[in-house]
Amino acid sequence: QALQRGLADQVVPADQLVEAAVEMARQLRDATGRVPRSRRSGLVGRLARLFPPVRALVFRQVRGAIRRRAGDHYPAPLAIVSAVKAAFAGDRQRGQALERELFADLVLGPVSRNLVGLFLLTQEARHWYDEESLPDRPEVESVAVLGAGVMGAGIARLCAERGLRVVLRDISAEALESGMKRIRNDLARRVERRRLPAPEHDAILERIRPVTGAPDLAGVDLVIEAVVEDLDLKKKVLAQAERAASAALLASNTSALSIGAMAEALSRPGRLGGLHFFNPVDRMPLVEIVAAKNSAPATVGALLVLARHLGKTPVRVTDTAGFLVNRILSVYLGEALMLVEEGVAIDVLDRRLRAFGMPVGPLELLDRIGLDVAGEVVESLTVAFGDRRAPTDLLARMRADGRLGEKGGRGFYVHGGRRPVPDREGLARLTGRPGTRAPDRDVVFALLDPMVAEAARCLEQGVVRRPGEVDLALVTGIGWPPFTGGLLRWADTQGLPVVVERLERLAGLEGARLEPPACLVERARRGETFHPLAGPSPAA
Ligand code: NAD
Repeated sequence: QALQRGLADQVVPADQLVEAAVEMARQLRDATGRVPRSRRSGLVGRLARLFPPVRALVFRQVRGAIRRRAGDHYPAPLAIVSAVKAAFAGDRQRGQALERELFADLVLGPVSRNLVGLFLLTQEARHWYDEESLPDRPEVESVAVLGAGVMGAGIARLCAERGLRVVLRDISAEALESGMKRIRNDLARRVERRRLPAPEHDAILERIRPVTGAPDLAGVDLVIEAVVEDLDLKKKVLAQAERAASAALLASNTSALSIGAMAEALSRPGRLGGLHFFNPVDRMPLVEIVAAKNSAPATVGALLVLARHLGKTPVRVTDTAGFLVNRILSVYLGEALMLVEEGVAIDVLDRRLRAFGMPVGPLELLDRIGLDVAGEVVESLTVAFGDRRAPTDLLARMRADGRLGEKGGRGFYVHGGRRPVPDREGLARLTGRPGTRAPDRDVVFALLDPMVAEAARCLEQGVVRRPGEVDLALVTGIGWPPFTGGLLRWADTQGLPVVVERLERLAGLEGARLEPPACLVERARRGETFHPLAGPSPAA
């Protein structure tokens, strides 16, 4: 990787290191035996060879590129540019002096503390579930994935990449072929970008056996169902799988259905658990491991170990509506929908949330998820939480109007052009408002504070046990901005009494659904935070 990025000049086997280094030095020096500036290799050499005005232009472009990728929230890359620039403008000493100064500021600053905090959480997470009966190695060497859609294909590829044998089944030959095509394209792209050695590409594909008929499941260690989100269908395919593979563990990738309800169709419900991947499977590290009432500890343990073996971050959750992440996310999306109903301009709203640090705004996210998929999740959570949910059926109206989001070319935005364009006319027709109102200043808090309230409820109800699980799950599942350290660390930084007060004000305007829960009010009143106040020390 260092070689690819130009940070290293050459990579050689350890026993040839000295020889290769001497040879390289020989090639670089001039007649006086010194290495002239212009012959220094790598990035620094290339920068040194530029005319100063061109170099200044390069620095400006680099700053722009960093801002575009990281927003204004990550100061370290920009500080590096400043230090390198100073070294070129004056001399190396000046650059190093500035580097020392900037480094000291950054290492003690809040972003560093939050990112180090998250890093430590990922370390700690390896031991979160040690009390489960965790096997040392994954017991699962072969899996059957039922459903070759967006999720099934992604899960099949990941398993095959990590050395598992995979049967991928879909009832539709067309869906199966398009799933396999996606897998082949994704692998080819990775080879092209040199992320995957070419020979591995073929080996991975060979490990996946696509089938349309009833698969031979004898000898399969785990069956993961990723068929469409329909409880009766899921019960049926799981019961069939149980009959065909009596020794296998069973898992469902459902977004919001009850694992316990699925287990009712099984003769040995203890062998079923939830294995909830996030979309896109290869990019989102989170997997929620759903422990239903009847899931045997050994099943949960095996799923936890498998998720780790697949390079994922497992978080164990209870079998309650929306599990953890979708439950918290849907509160945020519901409040965004309420603002759209009130006529707030969607592009401005999305921009505000992106400026806060979200990877995409809430309406952009809904278009990406698909308004059919998002609608199903939101509706099932409305059934579960009733009047605590935003009272809007905008998603249903959008679907009835033929809007599926990005995949259908039209949702909140019109897609297909160079960039998505807000569909103001369509939204005005559906909401009866012009959709041009600028949101007021507090719109970010109006969406984020209710997430804090929901997370507090999840902790109180034991959906997860630790604030760190909430923070890590949201960062790894929906890309919650890491520079904040996570949702609950962000709430701690805001001050819980401040969050409570804002929620009370919001509830006064919008209704009782936004009333802060007693567990949050109490925590704030006692002067407690979710995480220890000082936070992890960077030196830890
Ligand atoms: P999808 O519609 O893309 O794919 C579902 C596939 O299942 C289809 O190809 C369909 O032909 C196939 N199928 C239907 N009945 C079958 C059967 N009896 N046997 C085998 N295959 C069958 O759906 P998806 O988005 O991949 O979602 C699958 C599951 O994953 C759902 O439960 C969904 O809630 C969940 N999920 C989806 C997302 C997401 O963002 N798409 C994220 C997390 C979880």
